[in-house]
Amino acid sequence: MSQPTIESILQEKRLFHPAAGFSQNAHIKSLEDYQQLYDKAQANPEKFWADLAATELHWFEKWHTVLDWQPPFAKWFVGGKTNISYNCLDRHLTTWRKNKAALIWEGEPGDSRTLTYAQLHREVCQFANVLKQLGVQKGDRVGIYMPMIPEAAIAMLACTRIGAPHSVVFGGFSAEALRDRLIDAQAKLVITADGGWRKDAIVPLKEQVDKALADGAVPSVENVLVVKRTGQDVYMQLGGRDHWWHDLQKGVSADCPAEPMDSEDMLFVLYTSGSTGKPKGVVHTTAGYNLYTHITTKWIFDLQDTDVYWCTADVGWITGHSYIVYGPLSNGATTLMYEGAPRSSNPGCFWDVIEKYGVNIFYTAPTAIRAFIKMGEHHPKARNLSSLRLLGTVGEPINPEAWMWYHRVIGGDRCPIVDTWWQTETGGIMITPLPGAIPTKPGSATRPFPGILADIVDLDGNSLGDNEGGYLAVRHPWPGMMRTVYGDPERFRRTYWEHIPPQDGKYTYFAGDGARRDEDGYFWVMGRVDDVLNVSGHRLGTMEIESALVSHPAVAEAAVVGKPDELKGEDVVAFVTLEGSHQPSEELSKELKKHVVQEIGAIARPGEIRFTDALPKTRSGKIMRRLLRNLASGQEVSGDTSTLEDRGVLDKLREGA
Ligand code: ATP
Ligand code: MG
Repeated sequence: MSQPTIESILQEKRLFHPAAGFSQNAHIKSLEDYQQLYDKAQANPEKFWADLAATELHWFEKWHTVLDWQPPFAKWFVGGKTNISYNCLDRHLTTWRKNKAALIWEGEPGDSRTLTYAQLHREVCQFANVLKQLGVQKGDRVGIYMPMIPEAAIAMLACTRIGAPHSVVFGGFSAEALRDRLIDAQAKLVITADGGWRKDAIVPLKEQVDKALADGAVPSVENVLVVKRTGQDVYMQLGGRDHWWHDLQKGVSADCPAEPMDSEDMLFVLYTSGSTGKPKGVVHTTAGYNLYTHITTKWIFDLQDTDVYWCTADVGWITGHSYIVYGPLSNGATTLMYEGAPRSSNPGCFWDVIEKYGVNIFYTAPTAIRAFIKMGEHHPKARNLSSLRLLGTVGEPINPEAWMWYHRVIGGDRCPIVDTWWQTETGGIMITPLPGAIPTKPGSATRPFPGILADIVDLDGNSLGDNEGGYLAVRHPWPGMMRTVYGDPERFRRTYWEHIPPQDGKYTYFAGDGARRDEDGYFWVMGRVDDVLNVSGHRLGTMEIESALVSHPAVAEAAVVGKPDELKGEDVVAFVTLEGSHQPSEELSKELKKHVVQEIGAIARPGEIRFTDALPKTRSGKIMRRLLRNLASGQEVSGDTSTLEDRGVLDKLREGA
């Protein structure tokens, strides 16, 4: 018997075609062109990727084997030699792009810097020489714990230039989280700053590094390099551990040829938030990751040479790695980096940045969009956003009404939206519209990228039919896939490749998300498998009930969880934040319950609505339903809360219970 899957109840039928003008100039111009690419890739994935690798990347030496697949371990472009720092920098210097802006940076206090490709190359080479002088060698791991400043990108590109895998730890993580990750990666050196600006305050990064390293807790770390950013006094350890970046960079040669790396040499390790247990070091390697981020950036963001491209993620997340640094620079694009975040003192700062630099492509997260909705559309309306031509989102399912708001208010009804589904583990975007080719439906990530054999399966690995909810899975390896969990290949196998039992030696990648595929082949992500509710024998994803709530004009944001119920198994509890002018009331609560019934049916009717000012989120802005589940059932909050953005939110919810 097949395992229970997930039911879908959401009815969303709106369809948006790309404007003719957009499609004409796009890299992929029509649904037919997409389909052709997709079919070609499906028929022979190895040839598809090999052709792209040959035309899109520079190689010191060509590979002899495209794919060596010993499930679940893949090797791509075996025998090839390349370097991602070379592909991001050096190869542009012999073209007109030499003096093009590579990186535009805007600091939170309003300072700014622009680095051309030639300038960025120079800085990276110098810093790579600094690393070498401190004894960093090919294969050594380097920790990066930095604010969003150009030196973060320079450090990453310098590491990969000399073949030292980096491990970037988000600058908002605590000293303990940093310590755990540095220990797991056995980092030899740490790059940080005195501090960074975040919401008008200084985040004391160097102080956190000192705490993480205190009492010899991380014996592998020999040196700490510190960028002067915020300028307050910081402790510098005498005897040589701590060095100022600007001191060591002074007078250093800018001649540092990129190291020819094996395709499968480790490029970086990045820890997922590790909400359960030991942090999981996701390992990516050189050539496959470079190719995958390069081609996805080019086609999905439809990069044109004059574009200013802005992804609002932090470099501490995979989105920052793939779509601020490596993907855009590999394409010779102008990538914008912004240190700040919308805050009460400056709720329109994002729109100011767009206006100031004439941003053409804007890529952000649903959590940010929901925050903008709450702050009110007068902020974006007061700025000139006419330079925008393409919008994107990543990180969570986007509720259709939030999508509509983004489309109308930010995109002026003219910009396509690419809703991009992917994970730290996948390296790059997997399911997404190609904006000139694929008509969009609000709330759907639409179709798989060419070469990605995505599927919806039950737990036996059987493919499900149209609109049958099940588990999102991938049937064939792809170049950007993670290679292993750092130091724990068995955990890699267990976590991603054994939930769906291999059939006839064929392995299926289990993403951990629930989804369905509609009659047009569009994918609709329904939320994390761990968050699925079980109401009277119906398994319901969180996204659809939340979307029904968000479609009510009073609701800004919603999170639903299950609470044990004797009759139904689980009852739906909805945590709701309201838009500006609305107030919580018994009446509104009744109205919202009725609204859900009207929108998607009685089965999803929340037994309880809890109004709140804010929802608990991870530091990358994802709703932590796990904690809400504890609260809803009156239990103590259990499990790790170190990735929580704001503890106060949880305390407030507890008090209100
Ligand atoms: P951890 O694995 O440590 O719990 P995480 O899953 O939040 O952390 P990421 O790799 O950044 O870390 O996030 C990937 C997940 O984010 C996906 O599995 C999916 O649940 C969600 N996600 C990302 N983009 C989308 C999208 N466009 N639509 C729906 N869900 C998305
Ligand atoms: Mg995950």
